[in-house]
Amino acid sequence: MNLFAVPTICESARRNFTEPALNTTETHVACPGCGCLCDDVSLTFDDQHIVAFEPRCALGESWFRNHVVATQPVAELNGIATAYEAAIQQATKLLRRADYPLVYGLSRSSSPGQRAAVALADRMGAAIDTTASMCHGPSIMALQEVGEVTCTLGEVRNRADLVIFWGCHPAASHPRHADRYSVFAKGRFTPEGRDSRKVVMIGEAGKVEDWQLSPHGGAADLVIPVSPDGDFEIISQLRALLRGTPLTDVSEPVRHLMELMKNCRYGVVFFGLGLAGSRMWDDERPLNTGHIHVAALLQLVAELNAVTRFTARRMRLQGDVSGADNVLLWQTGYPFAVDISRGYPRYNPGEFSANELLERRETDLCVIVGAETIPYFSKAARDYLKSIPTIVIDYPNAPLEFIPNVRFTTAVYGLHAAGTAYRMDNVPLPLRALQTSNYPTDEDVLTDLLTGFRND
Ligand code: SF4
Repeated sequence: MNLFAVPTICESARRNFTEPALNTTETHVACPGCGCLCDDVSLTFDDQHIVAFEPRCALGESWFRNHVVATQPVAELNGIATAYEAAIQQATKLLRRADYPLVYGLSRSSSPGQRAAVALADRMGAAIDTTASMCHGPSIMALQEVGEVTCTLGEVRNRADLVIFWGCHPAASHPRHADRYSVFAKGRFTPEGRDSRKVVMIGEAGKVEDWQLSPHGGAADLVIPVSPDGDFEIISQLRALLRGTPLTDVSEPVRHLMELMKNCRYGVVFFGLGLAGSRMWDDERPLNTGHIHVAALLQLVAELNAVTRFTARRMRLQGDVSGADNVLLWQTGYPFAVDISRGYPRYNPGEFSANELLERRETDLCVIVGAETIPYFSKAARDYLKSIPTIVIDYPNAPLEFIPNVRFTTAVYGLHAAGTAYRMDNVPLPLRALQTSNYPTDEDVLTDLLTGFRND
């Protein structure tokens, strides 16, 4: 293996970073704190610290503050700091010994890192999966089945006069969504902002009644509490009402919602994991029925287009989860849960998704690019993960519940390194390097692993 071909950390830093002046303000920064990817943020740095984040968003500010001070070593072997080249060498050895490796994560990375992860998985004949399998995977399966009438957030801002949040609480998960795109924003055909729109919240009974539209308040015009796994029934009622089927036991709020839907000029429904993550229980084991609920909702939205314009959008969570879908699609033809062990890509959620591969003990090494969703794996999957070789590539200060064999700490895209991220509506936006850093990027580490794997 030619280790001299591996770029040094200093070279990586020079390639990706621009030298900032001290006490500077960076404007039009894109924030990867959630799927809104707001690109109007101003960040003021005092030396290496953030002293101001505008406009106010506690989630976005904490995302930048969590990553801005980084003291972790670039590379560790079994928890002990080591030279980068030695860590690459050891990781390469592990990769070559593995029969069926798994590459998992990618959502807190960026397009260059995601592309490099797919290249490594392809070369190794690995399975590759993203965090979508732990969140909106059922939504992806639903839209593959029935299609999706969709839109950009700019279209929502300019046109939507009926906005429905179904199974999501935007004030908590996407704090500026209502202000910037969907509720209070003034657009070309929504000149009065909030007064130009009707807003509906549908969610879990006992919780949705207290939800607000944004962190600074705002109540919906109509709130529909849903009993656990009652979403499908309400969607079915709405589809029947739309067709004119006489129903006797439909609640007044559901009838009201149907009238709002039929009479709006442009409607949009944003749905979250409260719908896509719906679970029924089969004995002790959760049976995820989210894809059935989402498919029914997408069919309702398609049918509404016979009487007005109606669209649907997933509320994607933090980082570049939409980018991970997109990059896997470009590279393999499938968005998540892909197996390349036969030399060509195969797709089967449940069979090739990370949690299930680990539960069934089918993989013998895991490369984790961003470990933030590992705590949501089942206990069996987490226990098995701790028993096999692991190579973790993660941001500074990222918590980890076990010590991996090899750990690389990498530059944060959008703070230390330039890249591309996809907003929740699949619009790609550039991420800028705002600070200097000695960390390599995900792309650097994964490319060095690929080079080592090829040359070893
Ligand atoms: S809403 Fe999301 S993307 Fe926008 S500033 Fe807040 S955390 Fe960042």
